[in-house]
Amino acid sequence: MKIIVTGGAGFIGSNFIYYMMEKHSEDQIICLDALTYAGHMSTLEVAMKNPAFRFVKASVTDRVTVYRLFEEEHPDIVVNFAAESHVDRSIENPEVFLDTNIKGTAVLMDACLKYGIWRYHQVSTDEVYGDLPLERPDLFFTEETPIHTSSPYSASKAAADLLVQSYHRTYGLPVTISRCSNNYGPYHLPEKLIPLMIVEALHDRPLPVYGDGKNVRDWLYVKDHCRAIDLILRHGKEGEIYNVGGHNEMKNIDIVKLICRELGKPEELITYVEDRKGHDRRYAIDPSKIHRELGWLPETSFAEGIKKTINWYLNHQEWWRPIVEKEMKIKC
Ligand code: NAD
Repeated sequence: MKIIVTGGAGFIGSNFIYYMMEKHSEDQIICLDALTYAGHMSTLEVAMKNPAFRFVKASVTDRVTVYRLFEEEHPDIVVNFAAESHVDRSIENPEVFLDTNIKGTAVLMDACLKYGIWRYHQVSTDEVYGDLPLERPDLFFTEETPIHTSSPYSASKAAADLLVQSYHRTYGLPVTISRCSNNYGPYHLPEKLIPLMIVEALHDRPLPVYGDGKNVRDWLYVKDHCRAIDLILRHGKEGEIYNVGGHNEMKNIDIVKLICRELGKPEELITYVEDRKGHDRRYAIDPSKIHRELGWLPETSFAEGIKKTINWYLNHQEWWRPIVEKEMKIKC
């Protein structure tokens, strides 16, 4: 199989590339990435040594370049991770989210229609469902939960999902969609909660927590997400949506306290800051469809995954220090 992975220089895309290289060494992978502030070649250093891997620097919105790539490579599969992915940035500047997340998806699918494809997979998010009340722990997002977005980020992802479904219905494009909960693990940019807290705690700096810190997220170790996508590609039904989540709900504040404990840092570093606008209270995925139909279950518990993640950041400071200094203007 020849697979185009867009956004492969980012967090989940790069983990997916490494997962696929290990699991399906017979496949060829082409990574298409614009290398925005979120994408880094240092993340793909090991992949670049693999002769079955090719990197192309381009935007998914660049129709001419995308078409040229399809003409050259004739891929069997496209997995679209490319996205503007940070909610806070979408509140500051929504426009680039519309371009990359919606228009970029349309360009990729147009290329699939023009040159032919065996499968187009859209990597979506549980944030398209909006949030759930904290006082109703019995409620979960299923694939039938109506879309109800809160931020420009989630609205752009939901719009892309609707477009993907419309290309399936209108043109018969062979698509699948996965909607995953919050991921954590290696190569996660320290603008997101878990790596940010690890990096700041290592520097004994204040650990900023939004609002009262009681917002609940459903956390999944990134490798489990990659395995779910691989299963959907090979055994999922065309036109279907699959929710992916680990039934691992945690309050933000409890995660930050856990990181302090693991690193031997005092909880006094925690500082509460003004809440994010429109901050979702609780996300919780019901993953029973992917379990029932494809046999998927998470393999990494949170206790194990968070230890692995912290150790990865301790052992890969040469990866995150330059990125944090350049992109996030945080002194290391
Ligand atoms: P990320 O921000 O770490 O990486 C995004 C990558 O896309 C970067 O390499 C960036 O350079 C690239 N990119 C951005 N704009 C581009 C463009 N116009 N053309 C080509 N490449 C472009 O994101 P992530 O956390 O790895 O998320 C990947 C996907 O998974 C996203 O679609 C996101 O919505 C989805 N998702 C993320 C999570 C999570 O917890 N991180 C959870 C569920 C779903």
